[in-house]
Amino acid sequence: MSKQTLSFQAEVAQLLHLVTHSLYSNKEIFLRELISNASDACDKLRFEALANGALWEDAPNLEVRVSFDKDAKTLTITDNGIGLTEQEAIDNLGTIAKSGTRDFVSKLEASQKADAKEQGSLIGQFGVGFYSGFMVADKITVESRKAGAAAEAGVRWVSTGTGEFEVETIDRAARGTSVTLHLRDDAMDYANGWRLKSIINKYSDHISLPILMGKEEWKDGEDGKDGGMVATGEWETVNKASALWTRPKKDITPEQYTEFYKQIAFDQEAPLAWSHNRVEGSTEYTQLLYIPSKAPHDMWNRDKKAGIKLYVKRVFIMDDAEALMPMYLRFVKGVVDSADLPLNVSRELLQESRDVKSIREGNTRRVLTVLEDLATSGDDAEKAKYATFYGEFGAVLKEGLGEDFSNKDKLAKLLRFASSTTDKVSVSFADYKARMKEGQEAIYYITADTIAAAKNSPQLEVFKKKGIEVLLMTDRVDEWALGYLHEFDGTPLQSVAKGAVDLGKLQDEAEKKAAEEAAESFKPTLEKLKVALKDKAEDVRVTTRLVDSAACLVVQDHGMSTQLARMLKQAGQDAPETKPILEVNADHPLVKKLVDSTHFDDLAHILFDQALLAEGGLPDDPAAYVKRVNSLLV
Ligand code: ADP
Ligand code: MG
Repeated sequence: MSKQTLSFQAEVAQLLHLVTHSLYSNKEIFLRELISNASDACDKLRFEALANGALWEDAPNLEVRVSFDKDAKTLTITDNGIGLTEQEAIDNLGTIAKSGTRDFVSKLEASQKADAKEQGSLIGQFGVGFYSGFMVADKITVESRKAGAAAEAGVRWVSTGTGEFEVETIDRAARGTSVTLHLRDDAMDYANGWRLKSIINKYSDHISLPILMGKEEWKDGEDGKDGGMVATGEWETVNKASALWTRPKKDITPEQYTEFYKQIAFDQEAPLAWSHNRVEGSTEYTQLLYIPSKAPHDMWNRDKKAGIKLYVKRVFIMDDAEALMPMYLRFVKGVVDSADLPLNVSRELLQESRDVKSIREGNTRRVLTVLEDLATSGDDAEKAKYATFYGEFGAVLKEGLGEDFSNKDKLAKLLRFASSTTDKVSVSFADYKARMKEGQEAIYYITADTIAAAKNSPQLEVFKKKGIEVLLMTDRVDEWALGYLHEFDGTPLQSVAKGAVDLGKLQDEAEKKAAEEAAESFKPTLEKLKVALKDKAEDVRVTTRLVDSAACLVVQDHGMSTQLARMLKQAGQDAPETKPILEVNADHPLVKKLVDSTHFDDLAHILFDQALLAEGGLPDDPAAYVKRVNSLLV
């Protein structure tokens, strides 16, 4: 095909604009990206050659070569991996296939406020792959030939990183791809062997195939000229070329673990913790698992892939092997290298494999143990790490209660909450139990939208009065997740907004008696209330849970809280139309007034609507509410 000029997909053009204009200081990561692509291409070849040996073309030594030419101002990264066809070059280098990257770019674009520097650091965290070459180059030439294809089927792709790129067919004997960066004047320091080697050591040491560079030797100056490094014409391997996870633990420094993490997780920040083990037994595998220190921007996307790379005996098989980690641990990054799985394993096969199941269980146990160690560590720095972890991922972890019954007890120990005694999300169930009052038989909790709403909830009044601690739960998943946890270490969990309040032994006989009497004398009014509110309330009853408030809403013992129902509705989902129970405080002046009020109906509705307002809801008919209040005010 003759030369054609094509336009980048709009998102790529946007991305390129950001890349070339960002003040991102850490430009050197472009080399990590290009070497990682070269390595991916070699992995792909190795994988496809399993089924089709001809792809090796008698050149089975996979490698990456990095070379530069100071005079021509170029830097070239060459691999002998899978290569690209012309169409693949157009597709893969002209569009962004990954929806995650697309979302990211539109987010970047949308945040016009973000200054260039901030955008730059976002780019670095995210890793924009191939396009990062344009941070240091004003033109990139890619030449490639697909493994197994004829020499005449090569492709040249050229772009200056503005709106367009050119492709043409070329002859290329060598299999694989070379990416040539035409360095910008301000990026000429990358045309330096020492600099390039140090970048490769920093980012790409673990790449499991050799990265070669031209060997240089020092030569003293002659005739008054300065000395310098001179090419010897030989190549040398500049990385360790051994997959990090296969090396013994004792030979790996924390810096190496951290760098490896940054590489596989596209994260600039160091991980909070990691665990590296060889697991032996019926299934043999190596696991290297990391807990990140920050949640990614798409944490809440449950379609988000798990962050585990699967290798079989060091051969890369796939990214995002979701079968290797349960959904609620989707934030964990790392590598699993199995000795037992077949190399041609597919995602579908993974779902069914017994080995995979046992690896997943092993991974889960390992992560929970790492977390438990942090949480219970005597070391303050480790403890602080747990607080960081919980702040970022606590809500995701809770999903496990509904997802992983076998680890429910372990998970319950890892949970932390705010409580009526502290706003800090730091109270464990065990802490709570240790502080329980004499005679207290349940762990009390309340769910609400915010800590403030939870703390000021009328349902809490009697607990406050009696000095009983109540856990405050404000994560969206709390209500759902706690639905799966009925007790902790033998003590039942009790929502203070569900069912009749039962303080058990915490209430003395005199109190119980007084309450019964009050209820008895209030009975006729109660019946009238039930009739007046029959469309709104499932039931009306007298309660002892209120001290200062006139009324509150509760749901039946196993019903969905009004808060959760409201959330579901806001999210456009179906929520069961259950009516709440109105509980009234027979001691409250407003409620007493009801007994012989001439405005009984208005007062009854106001009582109900106010209880709804107090818990963050809205009356069904706000205008009617206002009218009623006003009619009483005048
Ligand atoms: P990613 O590597 O995350 O897919 P990149 O932007 O780094 O994203 O690369 C885009 C695509 O271009 C790759 O998925 C691959 O298909 C193709 N590509 C890039 N570099 C090479 C290479 N050296 N050999 C073969 N294909 C490549
Ligand atoms: Mg890449």
